[in-house]
Parts: sequence; C-alpha cells; structure tokens
Amino acid sequence: MDPGWSIGFCQTVKKSQPSAVATFIEKEDCPLVMEHSEEPEGYLQWHAWAAKRIKTHRQIRCKGCSLLVIWVPRKKRPKK
Ligand SMILES: [Zn+2]
Repeated sequence: MDPGWSIGFCQTVKKSQPSAVATFIEKEDCPLVMEHSEEPEGYLQWHAWAAKRIKTHRQIRCKGCSLLVIWVPRKKRPKK
C-alpha cells in the first residue's frame, strides 16, 4: 500500500467533517415555533403532564428545530 495515499485520504475525511455538523437551534428560536404544541413550563409539571399525554398522543419532530415538540393524537388501531 502506498502510505502517502492513506495519509491524504485521512486528511480529506477530517476536513469534510465540520460542514456535516447540524446547527443546534433553541426551541424559542425555531422558525416554526407556532407549530409547537403547548406544554407546561415547569420540569416536574411537564413530566406529569407528558406521562398522561403519551398514552393518547405521540411526539413528532418539528421540521424547524428537530425537537420532539409536536404532539399528535395516536391513531386507534381497529381490533382484528
Ligand atoms: Zn420547532
């Protein structure tokens, strides 16, 4: 194997990595914040609320911030 080739290859991979890192956006800075579901403010309140809500809803990712902040009602599966 040619050592010069493998070193050059490694450097190319390293250089291309930073552009692949996604930019993290705060929930409040999301361009689609109006599509977020209303959630309780407090941490404990949120968990108590979410525990009940998860039984009838499921969370989907927002296209603006990639966070699981949109709650949609679960589809009831017809019994066979
Ligand atoms: Zn969002």
